[in-house]
Amino acid sequence: MKIVIDPGHGGHDPGAVANGLKEKDLTLTIVKHIGRLLGEYEGAEVFYTRTDDRYLSLEERATIANKLKADLLISVHINAGGGTGFESYVYNGNVSAATVAYQNVIHAEIMKAIDGVKDRGKKRANYAVLRETKMPAILTENLFIDNANDVAKLKSEQFLLQVAHGHVQGIVKAFDLKKKANSTPSQPQQKVSDKKLYRVQVGAFANRENAERLVEELKKKGYPAIVV
Ligand SMILES: [Zn+2]
Repeated sequence: MKIVIDPGHGGHDPGAVANGLKEKDLTLTIVKHIGRLLGEYEGAEVFYTRTDDRYLSLEERATIANKLKADLLISVHINAGGGTGFESYVYNGNVSAATVAYQNVIHAEIMKAIDGVKDRGKKRANYAVLRETKMPAILTENLFIDNANDVAKLKSEQFLLQVAHGHVQGIVKAFDLKKKANSTPSQPQQKVSDKKLYRVQVGAFANRENAERLVEELKKKGYPAIVV
């Protein structure tokens, strides 16, 4: 499966800007998490439209996916303009049954991963990146950069990871991807040599609650974790 992941905006186009955050940075962070997490699955070939802070037109993004003959394009955005929560889009013209099915499962998995966030629903729109792509294409609007509650979440590295995790779980379900047998990239690595102990830090938080939450997350996954 060829999967193109597209961080919205970039370069001279910051996207929505508010509260010290830029949409183009958040989308790139989320997409990099998605790509890394997808790397743990067999048969998922991941392509990025951009991996750094550069401008690409919507047509260029669609062309990248079309040339690759990708099986799916996911474009990641942050919302603005008053509101709260998560919504997803497919093209409002003719779309394949697969497109609708993928939107259903990916939307549901993201909502599961960001429990407590308002579900604004599955929508359709005439967005160029959706219209000009020849394969199923989905655009996600991940919370509002100009809403205080949403911004508190968007400022949390752990939350952005959860958003990415939801996208990945959706893609995994949509394409029935299987974990690589030897996949342990998210496992903390400890190397003991000459009585030196290399510890792995996975997060630093101003708010203890966020640290506790990450510890719970890690423990669920079987890693011993403590707050220092
Ligand atoms: Zn956007």
